[in-house]
Amino acid sequence: MSVLDSKTPEGPIKDKWTNYKNKIDLVNPANKRNIDIIVVGTGLAGGSAAATLAELGYNVKAYCYQDSPRRAHSIAAQGGINASKNYMGDGDSDYRLFYDTVKGGDYRSREANVYRLAEVSKNIIDQCVAQGVPFARDYGGLLDNRSFGGVLVSRTFYAKGQTGQQLLLGAYSAMNRQIARGKIEMFNRHEMLDVVKVDGKARGIITRNLITGEIERHSAHAVVIATGGYGNVYFLSTMAMGANATAAWKVHKKGAYFANPCFTQIHPTCIPRSGDYQSKLTLMSESLRNDGRIWVPAKIEDAKAIQQGKLKPTEIPEEDRDYYLERRYPAFGNLVPRDVASRAAKERCDAGYGVNATGEAVYLDFAYAFERYGKEQAKIHGLKNPTEEEIIKLGQAIIEEKYGNLFQMYEKIIAEDPYKTPMMIYPATHYTMGGVWVDYNLMTTIPGLYCIGEANFSDHGANRLGASALMQGLADGYFVLPYTIGDYLADEIRTGAIPTDTPEFDEVEKSVKERINFFINNKGSKSVDHFHKRLGVVMWNKVGMSRNEKDLKEAMAEIKAIREEFWKEVKVSGDADEMNFELEKAGRVADFLELGELFAKDALNRNESCGGHFREESVELDGEQKGEAKRNDTDFAYVAAWEHKGEPADAVLHKEQLEFKDIELKQRSYK
Ligand SMILES: Cc1cc2nc3c(=O)[nH]c(=O)nc-3n(C[C@H](O)[C@H](O)[C@H](O)COP(=O)(O)OP(=O)(O)OC[C@H]3O[C@@H](n4cnc5c(N)ncnc54)[C@H](O)[C@@H]3O)c2cc1C
Repeated sequence: MSVLDSKTPEGPIKDKWTNYKNKIDLVNPANKRNIDIIVVGTGLAGGSAAATLAELGYNVKAYCYQDSPRRAHSIAAQGGINASKNYMGDGDSDYRLFYDTVKGGDYRSREANVYRLAEVSKNIIDQCVAQGVPFARDYGGLLDNRSFGGVLVSRTFYAKGQTGQQLLLGAYSAMNRQIARGKIEMFNRHEMLDVVKVDGKARGIITRNLITGEIERHSAHAVVIATGGYGNVYFLSTMAMGANATAAWKVHKKGAYFANPCFTQIHPTCIPRSGDYQSKLTLMSESLRNDGRIWVPAKIEDAKAIQQGKLKPTEIPEEDRDYYLERRYPAFGNLVPRDVASRAAKERCDAGYGVNATGEAVYLDFAYAFERYGKEQAKIHGLKNPTEEEIIKLGQAIIEEKYGNLFQMYEKIIAEDPYKTPMMIYPATHYTMGGVWVDYNLMTTIPGLYCIGEANFSDHGANRLGASALMQGLADGYFVLPYTIGDYLADEIRTGAIPTDTPEFDEVEKSVKERINFFINNKGSKSVDHFHKRLGVVMWNKVGMSRNEKDLKEAMAEIKAIREEFWKEVKVSGDADEMNFELEKAGRVADFLELGELFAKDALNRNESCGGHFREESVELDGEQKGEAKRNDTDFAYVAAWEHKGEPADAVLHKEQLEFKDIELKQRSYK
């Protein structure tokens, strides 16, 4: 095992980034015109990076598997984006955002990166406003903020429930300007299937044109991976159906270390699963927890009656309701971080208090918000002695203004009106904090290969706070990578164009073609989804919200067995030289079947509970925190970065020891 060098600059934390930028090598404008950069992925991270690098003068080649960058998974982001602007005057600052993010991640992230993130967060808002992103505004026309879980200030900028979509339109328009100038060459419907290294450096990629099936070679002086997270390893998740780990996994197999794969976020406010034939789960934005109260029946007989359809939630009197988050965590109540809220829901449902037919749901109730806002509105409008009905109506109008599209989406999926009856929610896989290991420069362990956005492991530690992913992706793309990549490229100005007719490209292209031919020609009998679903069941049951040594060992063996069967029995219909979704899925699931095993191995290695990773062997046994997760800073205050060595089970652990100089390590208490 080696110790990893994060290349974190010296000096006080608040000066590190500024001093670093002042000293790094720059590439002069004339030389930038001779340098090519590949950006794989054009979601918020890749889109913002591609636009900025092109604006700086580099030649950018950008890739996505959808028909347009506008369809990246980033478009699904609902709730908002954090920034330490302190517009609300409630005491926010760079330090507080930094502090909340490190604490929220349960002290498993790199301090210097997180401070930099907080520092540039303000620039992101200015950049996006300049692009025309229609953030919500208050009555006076100033940008509005709301609060998200795990923090005590309001710092989340939002555009109703469509923040990701609006931000992506901003990044996309910035990209389009560069596409029109010829500075970005956009390859839609192209999937990266492997990376090409020359003399140890990343020099290109092999892609499949998803419309014609053509296998293509693309070269550059540096390659940036911005391909999003791997939550679909669970099969069911809130992520886009196409979200995958292929690019990240392929670079891992070529030498990039994969960090903390077991750090996954299970989001507490998703629409519950309704049956075995479901292929997707839907998020209800966490912003709803600002106004909704979470509860289950306090009496087991009421819960049973609800499960059997004999009782309605509105028939349960106040004193027979258990607002379990407010009861257990009085300081943060319904706004505890996601990992805490998810485990608390599971605990109540496992104890039999779940509220739908499957017993896996809790209520998110807006009745109090209707009344609270309604009374305020009645006063504002000068209504004398309004009726209860009038108050509720006025309150509902405010909620509709804030979350109307989310309420509409819920009604369409569940066929119940959430204005009349509480919503039902349950945790679901939502985000992956783990990912490709990167240093302070966002460079992987392969020289010239960078990784940004959800695909890297960088800033969220063991748990991401709400509204921090968009912040990180856009910080990486607009404000960090464009500087740090120059430091590397300054040594490449004499390299000249990278040829693709070389043995290195021949070899990688050959292996890509062989794999595709195998899938097309294999005479198996089971669909790709058959294997993906089985993998998902093992992941959810044994590597899900609660993990233990026995289950994790079993999971590793079971995933390996599914993988071996996959390679014998998978059936892929259609041909290689046409649009073929089954073929696309086969490649992605093959990679998930390897990643899943490393994921379980990492969870097994980390015998502590931290953030979203809950080990049943590591809980507090006494005192106020009894039953809560127990972190072990003595043995596990490190990033676990895995080096590929053939089989996932043989991966070798490298540790990046985490140093906390500006934040005192404390037990995370939301009580
Ligand atoms: C339902 C939902 C709501 C969310 N809401 C919020 C929120 O309110 N606030 C917040 O901060 N975060 C939120 N998140 C998280 C956030 O949206 C994501 O973490 C973030 O958008 C990821 O951006 P990205 O650019 O890293 O990746 P993505 O947006 O996933 O983009 C990945 C890109 O890579 C491309 N790609 C992938 N593989 C390949 C390949 N092999 N070859 C070529 N191209 C490839 C894709 O085509 C795409 O362009 C939410 C997530 C979900 C699921």
